[in-house]
Amino acid sequence: MTAQVIDGKAFAARVRAQVGEHVGRLKAEHGLVPGLAVVLVGEDPASQVYVRSKGKQTVEVGMKSVEHRLEVDTSEADLLALIEALNADASIHGILVQLPLPKHLNEELVIGSIDPAKDVDGFHISNVGLLGTGQKSMVPCTPLGCLMMLRDHHGSLSGMDAVVIGRSNIVGKPMAQLLLGDSCTVTIAHSRTKDLADVVRRADIVVAAVGRPEMVPGDWIKPGATVIDVGINRVPNGEKTRLVGDVDYDSCAAVAGAITPVPGGVGPMTIACLLANTLTACCRANGLPEPEGLTA
Ligand code: NDP
Repeated sequence: MTAQVIDGKAFAARVRAQVGEHVGRLKAEHGLVPGLAVVLVGEDPASQVYVRSKGKQTVEVGMKSVEHRLEVDTSEADLLALIEALNADASIHGILVQLPLPKHLNEELVIGSIDPAKDVDGFHISNVGLLGTGQKSMVPCTPLGCLMMLRDHHGSLSGMDAVVIGRSNIVGKPMAQLLLGDSCTVTIAHSRTKDLADVVRRADIVVAAVGRPEMVPGDWIKPGATVIDVGINRVPNGEKTRLVGDVDYDSCAAVAGAITPVPGGVGPMTIACLLANTLTACCRANGLPEPEGLTA
């Protein structure tokens, strides 16, 4: 079997188009413009690229984009004051603080200071709790993107065996909660899991979020399973480098029913879901119906 490739780039473009159409209607019918504020502290090159890309895509779907670039030695008090001002700003519906923060800033405290209704990254403890109890929340963007692709591919996920490899707060755990919410039987694997190969072989859905290049070989995959590769790993390639995922693409694609490539799979969905979350936050803040198909 050769797996169907789940094209995350094309899917993300469809999500952005859907968000853009909804934003157009919000403007025309309610005079509303969803606003996203991104806060970057310091000059981490990768973070700068992400922030630029987020700002560009925000504007492209017709939303307001605000960027706050702060010096690397910004004090916690100054950062918290900025977040307080953004919390109070009615034209801002989503606030994202780009992580990681410089070491002298307490990430938990900073994320905890964001109004949960504007927490479009879904990292605030209130949103974590709401997701964990199956209530309406802001859902972390990467797992939301994975869920959208799985729903699109399978329709219903009910009763499927899902294995999530990785238990981080930003990917593994929320991914597992979302799959449970869609009535999968969910196993969360991690670095201490015994017989990982056997665990993965039982899965109809495998989500790999580990951060280890090409760790999952094809002979771990049940024939016909769907493989979602969250990993983004840069590895040497002659004198240059290239991106690979957490699964060994060629051997997994030979066995799986469907697979996401790296690059061009989960990656592009993350920012698309950030835009979807900002739209959702704007609709909720104004008591309007949420956009269909763009939330968990
Ligand atoms: P973390 O480092 O926070 O978590 C990695 C997880 O993998 C941990 O739970 C760890 O287990 C587990 N793990 C490590 N080694 C093994 C092993 N040998 N066997 C089984 N499990 C193992 O990473 P993130 O969740 O933040 O990210 C995971 C990957 O996804 C990275 O490549 C990252 O770049 C990528 N990513 C991609 C995004 C996108 O937009 N596409 C967004 C976010 C992340 P333990 O807890 O026991 O240590």
